[in-house]
Amino acid sequence: MFDQVGCTEFRELREQVRDFIDNELLPLQGESGLSDESEWPREMLRKVWRSSAQRGYYASTLPVELGGRGLTLLQQCALKADIAQSGCALAPHVLGDLGGPPRIGNMLRFATPQQMERYFLPVIRGERSTCFAMTEPASGSDAQSIRTRAVLDGDVYVIDGVKHYISGAPFADFAIVMCVTQGADQAQAISALLVDLDLPGVSVRQNDVPMSGQHIDADIVLEQVRVPRDNVLGEVGKGFGLAMSRINENRLLHCPTMLGLAMRAYRMSLDYARSRTQFGRPIGQFQAIQHMLADMASSLWACECMIAGTAALADAGGDIRMKAAACKLYVSERCFEIADKAVQIHGNLGVTRGHPIESTFRKLRMFRIFTGTSEIQRNTIAKAILD
Ligand SMILES: Cc1cc2nc3c(=O)[nH]c(=O)nc-3n(C[C@H](O)[C@H](O)[C@H](O)COP(=O)(O)OP(=O)(O)OC[C@H]3O[C@@H](n4cnc5c(N)ncnc54)[C@H](O)[C@@H]3O)c2cc1C
Repeated sequence: MFDQVGCTEFRELREQVRDFIDNELLPLQGESGLSDESEWPREMLRKVWRSSAQRGYYASTLPVELGGRGLTLLQQCALKADIAQSGCALAPHVLGDLGGPPRIGNMLRFATPQQMERYFLPVIRGERSTCFAMTEPASGSDAQSIRTRAVLDGDVYVIDGVKHYISGAPFADFAIVMCVTQGADQAQAISALLVDLDLPGVSVRQNDVPMSGQHIDADIVLEQVRVPRDNVLGEVGKGFGLAMSRINENRLLHCPTMLGLAMRAYRMSLDYARSRTQFGRPIGQFQAIQHMLADMASSLWACECMIAGTAALADAGGDIRMKAAACKLYVSERCFEIADKAVQIHGNLGVTRGHPIESTFRKLRMFRIFTGTSEIQRNTIAKAILD
């Protein structure tokens, strides 16, 4: 299905991006000796962002007027699945999933000209990196319960609080920090503030490494951090709405990454089933292995159709609130099952630390937690179908 997406120009883009990964990024990864579980130096990442931006890939998810290619969601899904399938440690940096244009996406429409100039245009050009900081140690699924406070002192907000498990924070230059700015009703009181991470009082601490082993998350500790009032993104007190305004697209756009990872695990399993011999024959001749492969292929097809259908509906202007949640729920659970079967087919290799199948298994497990856990997706679906 994704094979048929788009016009000639889009197909050429997919080819060019594959070529960029195969001929630039994979060799760079090989020369550096770094893996996706290494701490990549910020300067090296910056080179990758700029290189992708110069080729016109980095901002391709943004509208044409902002220097992007105005790709449809369906095209974005097809491209993201290609990139994730590559197995390259730098795959998340090709489009800037962790700290680039997809992180700022629709928030751009709330930015003032000064905020565009200082913060967002450099992100689009691959010169600066950002992160989105909502979660706190005591506030996860219940995002409106955040406690980070920003108190006005003249023309400056003074911020105190801790943001927890923030993707892209280890190499971000600034963060979009959700803070309580006023009032007792938190839903009305949350604002988004742009906070430079080199300001006095800010410390970025890599306290926890997720099970994927990637060094891409950190806590941001804010102690009496002084930020100009002009750094409020959008209206004061409207930050929660701003954060939620792209939640459906964000949920959907995680799905092709999971799909790409699962497709790679499936292809490796097919190859292994053909090449690994036991009891005098390739293990792919055992019906038990054939059935696992058949289940994997069926799930992949179901996931691909579901993602493509949801993306096409959104592109046509349809309401995807329920379907995006269903997609994130279904794809994250099916792709994890596919990774589990891939581990089984690979026998001891599949449980060997650092083997691509083993690390894919760990990566895919995490998707059932972030951008809304599976339980939160089920709550959204139930609400939509019962309302
Ligand atoms: C790798 C990774 C990257 C992340 N990146 C970011 C980021 O960039 N920015 C950011 O702000 N946050 C980020 N997060 C945080 C992430 O969004 C939260 O972990 C997630 O929202 C869940 O919150 P929690 O972990 O505190 O779990 P909790 O909310 O404490 O949930 C614990 C359990 O209770 C269940 N539960 C909670 N409420 C309900 C309910 N109402 N009904 C049913 N079950 C419920 C949950 O489903 C879960 O099973 C990241 C997390 C991870 C692991």
